[in-house]
Order: sequence, then C-alpha cells, then structure tokens
Amino acid sequence: MTREEILQWLREDDSSALEDLWRLADAVRSRCVGDEVHLRGLVEFSNRCARKCTYCGLRVDNTHLRRYRMSAEEIVGCARKAVDLGYGTLVLQSGEDPALDPEWLAGVVSEVKAVTPLAVTLSVGEWPREALRLWKQAGADRYLLRFETSDESLFQQVHPPRPDQSLSRFQVLDYLRELDYEVGSGVLIGLPGQTYGDLARSMELLGELELEMIGCGPFIPHPDTPLAAGGTRPVPDQVPGTELMTYKVLALARITCPYTNVPATTALATLDGVAGYETGLRRGANVIMPNLTPLEYRRLYQVYPGKAEVRREDEYHGSIRRRIEAIGRRVGVGPGGSIRHAGGCAFHA
Ligand code: SAH
Ligand code: SF4
Repeated sequence: MTREEILQWLREDDSSALEDLWRLADAVRSRCVGDEVHLRGLVEFSNRCARKCTYCGLRVDNTHLRRYRMSAEEIVGCARKAVDLGYGTLVLQSGEDPALDPEWLAGVVSEVKAVTPLAVTLSVGEWPREALRLWKQAGADRYLLRFETSDESLFQQVHPPRPDQSLSRFQVLDYLRELDYEVGSGVLIGLPGQTYGDLARSMELLGELELEMIGCGPFIPHPDTPLAAGGTRPVPDQVPGTELMTYKVLALARITCPYTNVPATTALATLDGVAGYETGLRRGANVIMPNLTPLEYRRLYQVYPGKAEVRREDEYHGSIRRRIEAIGRRVGVGPGGSIRHAGGCAFHA
C-alpha cells in the first residue's frame, strides 16, 4: 500500500467502503496471525514522571495527582496473578520515574522471570542504552515506546526534552533493536496539531521500523494538561481522535504489517466501551492488554481521564475472555511472540 492509498483510507467516510477495509483487515489477520488473541497483563507500577508531555496527565507539572511506585513484592504478586489468569506476558509500564534505579528494575524483571514463565515487556520511556542493556540481561523480552507522531517539530512541542538527558525516541528504538528486544511502537491518534499527511507518514514509518508490535490509541484530552479539551485551536486538516479513526489505523496497520502483533488498546475501549475491544479484534487486532494494576494505584495512573473504571476484578478478567470466545476467537496460550520475521511489512513507495 502506498502512502497515498493510506491517506485515502484515512479520509474515507463512506461506511460501505469502510466495510471493505474491515473485511480485508480481518482476512489478513486470520490468514497471517490466526484466531488466537494474546492477553498481556498490564501493571502500571509507577506514576512518577520527570517529563512534561503536554498530552499526558502524569506530567511532572500536574500537582493534582498523588504519586506512587509499587514495591517489588507487589509487582511480583501481580505477575503471579497474571499466571493464574492464564496470561502469557506481563507488561510493566510507568512514567519516566527519575528516581527509578535501573538495577532495582532489573531485579524485579529477573525475579518475575525466575518465578513465572511469563514474557516481560517494559514500557518505561526513554532510557540510556546501558539501562536498556541491563534490563535485557535481566530477562526482559520486549519494549514498547511509541514515537507518537512522525512530525519532529510537533513531537518536540508536545514532548519537551528533559534538561538532564538528550536521547531521541528513534535513537532509543535503535538501541532496542541492537539489543535484540522485540520492539513495539505506535502513534497517538488525533494529537492536537496532527494532520492527515502526518498520520499517513507515521503509518509508513511504522512499516519501515519493522516492528514486532504496533499499538495505536486515540488521544483523550486530560483536564490538567496544556492540551485539555477546548484549550487548543485545531490545525487545518487536523486528524480527529475518534474511535472510527482508531479503527482505520488499526486495520491499516494489520494490512500493511500483516504478521505484527496489534492490540486493541485500552484508550479505544475507554472511548467505545468494552465493545471497543471486540470491534478492534474484528478489524485487525490480535492482542488485548487487560489491566492488572491494583485498583488503589490504577485510579492514580491517569495518563488520560476515564480509563475504564473497574469495580469487580474477577468479573473484568472473566468478561474479556468470554467476549473473545463469543466472537469465535480463542485465548492464546504462552507468550505469543511476534512472527513478523516470517513476512515483513508490505509497503511500496
Ligand atoms: N512513560 C512511558 C510510558 C507511559 S505513557 C512513555 O511515555 O512511553 C504510555 C502511552 O500513553 C504514551 O506512549 C502515549 O501515547 C499514551 N498517552 C499519553 N497521554 C495520553 C492521552 N491523553 N490520551 C491517550 N493516550 C495517551
Ligand atoms: Fe511521562 Fe510517558 Fe506521560 Fe510523557 S507520556 S508525561 S513520559 S508518562
């Protein structure tokens, strides 16, 4: 698919034409990654962050938020729970916690690897190569770092550099590749200032990076950030952060990178309810990341507001499994690593 074709699909609003896109994405998903849906248990282990990303509620300037970091024991407890629930992967996510000791996190990773058969994915932001190497040696398998937008100057604006660090996201993605991580990246759909042209270019870039996972979600404004709803003036050709746009991106990611793992993200489910997961799975996705963060912490991990509030834990996990089966799919067994290498990404300039 060319960038021009991607652009046309992103602009397509005719529902019968879009039905063709959904059908094609679902057929490619079925042929290339099959009916298994891999479940990755997500643990949001720290909401401390040194960054000032203008899109995110965890930014250091948000003083309305009580900050936490879970203990190693608490994190390992969540890992055991992931095993009990039949999940194959644990995703450890956090802000760029400035006081996080890389050795401590390495210890947590090796403990999880020692006491469970789980694959471990890290999603902890931009770190120097040495820390990434330490975590890989401790047993981490995968790393998620979205580049959010291909527009460099927009990214600089919404993700100001840290005074104490001079890494670029693409440099970190390069390190991850060199260190032999399975690498995931993605974009924030509808980020204020993001044009259709930028989103099409971002999708092309996702293909060029030859990722093992592509995770894209809609931008949801957070009231305690500079990009709060109503606080920004849309640029001409602004991409909307809607569920429809997210489904288009998801379907196009599947079609252009057929063997890559593609999650139906929590932000999508926040906009579209649990139906968001189901619809995402029917339009190209093959991964869901159920949240395992203890509730007392989960409500403080406010990257964006309204993150699917959950009261009954057992009911939440059971319902995800039931919904997968109700649409004729099955829960994947084991770590569910990427089979991307079998096919690569199908982009034609
Ligand atoms: N600190 C790490 C991981 C936590 S943030 C990092 O930044 O990579 C994880 C993801 O949350 C980010 O990549 C971003 O795409 C998403 N995110 C942040 N603010 C958001 C918002 N307002 N709406 C939707 N997603 C958001
Ligand atoms: Fe921190 Fe990540 Fe949020 Fe940026 S997006 S403020 S790095 S948690």
